[in-house]
Amino acid sequence: MTKIAFIGLGNMGNPMAANLVKAGHSVTGFDLVQDNLDQASSAGVHIAESSPEAIGGAEIVITMLPAGSHVLAVYEELVPLAEKGTLFVDCSTIDVDSARHAHGLASDHQMLSIDAPVSGGVGGAAAGSLTFMAGGSKEAFAMAEPILDSMAGRIVHCGDAAAGQAAKICNNMILGISMIATGEAFVLAEKLGLSHQALFDVASTSSGQCWSINTYCPVPGPVPTSPANNDYKPGFAAALMLKDLKLAQEAAQSSGAVTPLGASATQLYALFNAAGEEGTDFSGIINFLRGQVKKDN
Ligand code: NAD
Repeated sequence: MTKIAFIGLGNMGNPMAANLVKAGHSVTGFDLVQDNLDQASSAGVHIAESSPEAIGGAEIVITMLPAGSHVLAVYEELVPLAEKGTLFVDCSTIDVDSARHAHGLASDHQMLSIDAPVSGGVGGAAAGSLTFMAGGSKEAFAMAEPILDSMAGRIVHCGDAAAGQAAKICNNMILGISMIATGEAFVLAEKLGLSHQALFDVASTSSGQCWSINTYCPVPGPVPTSPANNDYKPGFAAALMLKDLKLAQEAAQSSGAVTPLGASATQLYALFNAAGEEGTDFSGIINFLRGQVKKDN
């Protein structure tokens, strides 16, 4: 049994903390929202009055927060208070520069740290089948791995500090671009009189195959489990795709990488979000490519 502090018990943090409890760990949590604390408490998480109280005696501090600014604020407060050698694990999806800064704060105070963003969404968090992409030293990763295991389907050690965040935004830039490419292909097929099923049967087994076609097809029918069959309910909301694409663009600018398709995908998802589709699954962008927007806009 490990003593774990869990800061940020939102849509993802709550089920992740619940899985740590199920695995037999002692988890003390804190969030700013009372409803989230109540939900965590009913799953067996001990509730603290504040973040500093939550980390008392903790061997591992896990954060699952909205953005880099939240993570840095929490690290600035907690890192000086923790026992030396405590492991800090940030599972939030944040910008690479903030992730590096968070690692720096931890090492300045002789803490171990890894960044470990996830994919798999709320469903994967509940099922304990998240993919973790970790960045940090071998020593920190070795300490984190058995703990992450109770929340994970797969864990990849991607490299040193911030390598997990780098892997996450590179992967999601591919996904954003490939979903737009897939949507464009289906819209062109419609104009050419080609059925959705015929394009799917060819592209899903030919050189056009990709996750956006084979697993998450943006038209109803060919892949019955895709959100297109459920009125584009997320899944993975367009607002989160836009967040990740913006993080990729920030990283491209600060590193000097040339990512013109990533930039275009960011613009398209910004327009899609601005049309009132933030809560729509990101594959719904196919309707935007058809020129369709919500009726109440
Ligand atoms: P969320 O908004 O539901 O949860 C974040 C929680 O952090 C909130 O409950 C908020 O009250 C809490 N919080 C903010 N500042 C705090 C502070 N100072 N102290 C304590 N608690 C604080 O967001 P989420 O959907 O759980 O996502 C969390 C992170 O995971 C984000 O970085 C997101 O991009 C990433 N992520 C989300 C998904 C998804 O499908 N939701 C998938 C993969 C990655």
